[in-house]
Amino acid sequence: MEINEVYKNKTLYFSPIGLQEKYGLNLIFTTATKGQIKEKSDDFNLSFNDEYKPSEVTKNRKLLLHSNEIKTENPIIFLRQRHGSKIIIIDENFMFKFKELYLELDMISCAKNDIRKFIKIKESLPEGDGLITALPDIPIMVLGADCNIILICDIKQRIIAAVHAGWRGVLDNILSYCLNMLIDKFGSRQKDLMIFFGPSIRKCCFEIGSEIYKDFKTEFEETFDEYGEICNDGKYFIDLIGILKYQAFKTGIFDKNISVVGDCTCCSDNSLFFSYRKDKKAGRQAALAYISQKFQYSN
Ligand SMILES: [Zn+2]
Repeated sequence: MEINEVYKNKTLYFSPIGLQEKYGLNLIFTTATKGQIKEKSDDFNLSFNDEYKPSEVTKNRKLLLHSNEIKTENPIIFLRQRHGSKIIIIDENFMFKFKELYLELDMISCAKNDIRKFIKIKESLPEGDGLITALPDIPIMVLGADCNIILICDIKQRIIAAVHAGWRGVLDNILSYCLNMLIDKFGSRQKDLMIFFGPSIRKCCFEIGSEIYKDFKTEFEETFDEYGEICNDGKYFIDLIGILKYQAFKTGIFDKNISVVGDCTCCSDNSLFFSYRKDKKAGRQAALAYISQKFQYSN
């Protein structure tokens, strides 16, 4: 499916906008910038990490929804990402239990008392690296700055999923778990599932130590020669997107249903993306998915 580069309401993002028109599904990958060129003052960080004021992050999150004309009373649901393989289903029970907590987080100001409250709320958020929902009108999000951020949708049943997969998550097969959950628990058919890999660190820049290289080689033995490379100078590189695609193929997903959005976060032009490896400390770009509430199939 075609991925569009969209510049709207002073925000630059990537989105397969055909999905919105045809199925009422918003899938969005943000960049490091609200404008066309990265400037410090125009930083589009979407993570509540320590280097950013919570109120600025909330403002950016609101802008993200606004730019995509997502009008919802619900907060954006995201998790405390742990580089694991835990997938959380966002259902009515989850919302009943946690909605207020997320809404509170969105109201945090910069006052000192609020900062203490902010830290407490952050620590009470559920942990996990993947989210699945079939509920309309609830934006779900994962964050990354080099790590793979992946969006999945079932176009037939209108189900969405978001996955965060750094090298540990790839090694732990988090994408396979998520796809199998969609197939086994939600009854998704492989031909209806579409996968979008967002901007992430690519093989050109993903140099790793020999131990991790060996772990990958053991886990993905049957196919690893395609994805791993030892250069002449003894440096080890891995193609994580290649391995993720392999995990998807093994689950029965068609190649034509897989798209790669954006470039290498570490070496792409114009510093379009946040990169932890390049900048050491960095903001986070987001992959956000949303099922429109009022959508009806036209045929
Ligand atoms: Zn690169």
